[in-house]
Amino acid sequence: VAKTDPGEAAHGVSLVVVETEGAEGFRRGRVLDKIGLKGQDTSELFLDDVRVPTENLLGGQVGLGFIQLMQQLPQERLLIAVTSVAAMESAVEQTIQYTKERTAFGREIFTFQNTKFKLAECATEVNVCKAFLDQCIERHLRSELDVTGAAMAKWWITDRLSRVTDECLQLFGGYGYMTEYPISRAWTAARVQRIFGGTNEIMKEIISRSL
Ligand SMILES: Cc1cc2nc3c(=O)[nH]c(=O)nc-3n(C[C@H](O)[C@H](O)[C@H](O)COP(=O)(O)OP(=O)(O)OC[C@H]3O[C@@H](n4cnc5c(N)ncnc54)[C@H](O)[C@@H]3O)c2cc1C
Repeated sequence: VAKTDPGEAAHGVSLVVVETEGAEGFRRGRVLDKIGLKGQDTSELFLDDVRVPTENLLGGQVGLGFIQLMQQLPQERLLIAVTSVAAMESAVEQTIQYTKERTAFGREIFTFQNTKFKLAECATEVNVCKAFLDQCIERHLRSELDVTGAAMAKWWITDRLSRVTDECLQLFGGYGYMTEYPISRAWTAARVQRIFGGTNEIMKEIISRSL
């Protein structure tokens, strides 16, 4: 994403394809030490005075970059919602299995009313999110998912993901805090979903503009 006209705001941005292999001025920085998503090598990239052929301008016209980014954001936010529902579902499944194996005070911890009620709540949250997500996917397939709808899906579903993974981790007790248990990684991975793709506060800003 390059600023092609410093005097312009949104219209001063263009997208340029950079072949980084051997490009002078391109270098990778350190791999960032994240609290979660350890499998992703998120790192800094530096592009200092890198020169590219003019045909590398995406869309063939200078100044379209911001619009191009905006056009793709609903799909990116929908993807975040999809992975969040999948992660939520997996967390609930893992927790049902664990609570039926682990015993405390001579009983499977699944049999405590608190455990059953928490898992009932979590399973409900997953299904409600799925129904809304399916509606958004249908709208997306008809090219009708607007910025507002995608923002609603992104903030609502990632917020539920955080709550559900937190409740699930709690039911693992101390083991839930150990990285060897996948639920701990689900919890740290969930946290960033409310941040990237545009923070959930920004999602609410976007939604409020349509009201
Ligand atoms: C693991 C990871 C991967 C990422 N991957 C990508 C990627 O692939 N591509 C990419 O482009 N970006 C990526 N990002 C960046 C991510 O999209 C930004 O971090 C995110 O949009 C928030 O921007 P910021 O960090 O500048 O926060 P800031 O804008 O500094 O926000 C800080 C706080 O202020 C709040 N805030 C800011 N403005 C307002 C406002 N107007 N009203 C109310 N509250 C406000 C925010 O909600 C937040 O709580 C990634 C980030 C992470 C952590």
